[in-house]
Amino acid sequence: ALSESLDNTFRNLRGVGKISEKNITDALREVRLSLLEADVEFSVAKAFIATVKEQAMGEKVMKSIKPGEQIVKIFNDELTKLLGGDQAPMDLNPPAHILICGLNGAGKTTTSAKLALRLKKDGRRPLLIACDLYRPAAIDQLKTLAEQVEVPCFAPEAGETDVLKVAKQALSWAKEQNGTVLIFDTAGRQEVDETLIEELKQLNKLIEPKETLLVADSATGQQAVSVAQSFDAAVGLTGIVLTKLDGDARGGAALSMRAVTGKPIKYIGEGEKMDQFTEFYPDRMASRILGMGDIVSMVEHAADKIDEESVMKSAKRMQDGKFDFNDFLDQMKMLNKLGPLDGLMGMLPGFNKIKKQIPAGALDPKRMKRMEAIVLSMTPTERSRPELIKGRRRKRIAEGSGNTVIQVNQFLKQFGQMRKMMKSKGKMRDMMKQLGGMD
Ligand code: GDP
Ligand code: MG
Repeated sequence: ALSESLDNTFRNLRGVGKISEKNITDALREVRLSLLEADVEFSVAKAFIATVKEQAMGEKVMKSIKPGEQIVKIFNDELTKLLGGDQAPMDLNPPAHILICGLNGAGKTTTSAKLALRLKKDGRRPLLIACDLYRPAAIDQLKTLAEQVEVPCFAPEAGETDVLKVAKQALSWAKEQNGTVLIFDTAGRQEVDETLIEELKQLNKLIEPKETLLVADSATGQQAVSVAQSFDAAVGLTGIVLTKLDGDARGGAALSMRAVTGKPIKYIGEGEKMDQFTEFYPDRMASRILGMGDIVSMVEHAADKIDEESVMKSAKRMQDGKFDFNDFLDQMKMLNKLGPLDGLMGMLPGFNKIKKQIPAGALDPKRMKRMEAIVLSMTPTERSRPELIKGRRRKRIAEGSGNTVIQVNQFLKQFGQMRKMMKSKGKMRDMMKQLGGMD
């Protein structure tokens, strides 16, 4: 992954006390390769490297005591600039109409609902409008998501094919609903085509959106960039939503998108769940790409979800060797709330390195569910006094949780070892290994 190879390059640079032109040139060559591998547009990568090089060769850096650190900072600042500099705000002045467009499967419908939830949390009154009349299931999909995020949704009758008619009906419906932001989810295609563009143009003229957002799948790399250019030429984009950043190993789309299209990335999607969606902050993304760890978003995300008190309590109990199955359940609940662990931990500094040492599947949600089931089948006394759980109890727990006795034994043994290890503090990595051993 991009952040991983940059991580290595920078580690080498950081260690260098005196820096020479050759050091810099070598490092930049590696970075340039990483960028190209990450599917960053060739001209973007080239221009970026040239800018960084010019600054890195500057007197201030060459003569400083820690040139490596300075260069990392230059990288960070330049990447931030490349990604758009400041966070791009939304124009939500009434009538705030938002047109959501993009190819099939990019994540338009999901994004529409996520955005509605996001705006609702900010105290606005969003409304969702289903304008994808091509796919029979599209309307129901939006309706379901709208219910989930508790936002009113306008759904046309089945069989309706006139998108302009639907939009007009929706506009008068919206007046009654007393909403402040209207989000129009539209149809996509496999590729940009005439019919799609024509329909969007007409819809665009009718609803006069303040924001026209292109939803693009980040994993499609440079293709996403050219799609953005076509949509922009047709309807004039005001911003981009990059989806599926959770699964994207390469991250190149984020880098080229702004530079090539000149359009700001306004939001990013990082999972299928409705709250896995945030404003895009160029500086945070830059540090994330550089593998420095996006502490700020991590803390914000976690603060939203974690019951701090329960974490502190558990941590103390871990150190005291008193960590029992009740604590275990608390922790599981918290992890479940946090969503895919990978996503969160990826923001931690140095996680890329540690990740290699965590056995595949240790963080597998299915396995975690199984462990949770075992603990849930214990009585409250057993949970607080794990040492009580012997033969007959084990059998009962196995039956109750739908596991074999062997699996329960194995889990108990690992829990015991884990508990011991917690006592000798800070051995998170070993702990992960233990968890990974259960199957
Ligand atoms: P549309 O055809 O553009 O409306 O796309 P959908 O909203 O129906 O999304 C297509 C698929 O991508 C669905 O399975 C979504 O759950 C999934 N999806 C959308 N956004 C994200 C994201 O940020 N991360 C992940 N992992 N999946 C996403
Ligand atoms: Mg859709």
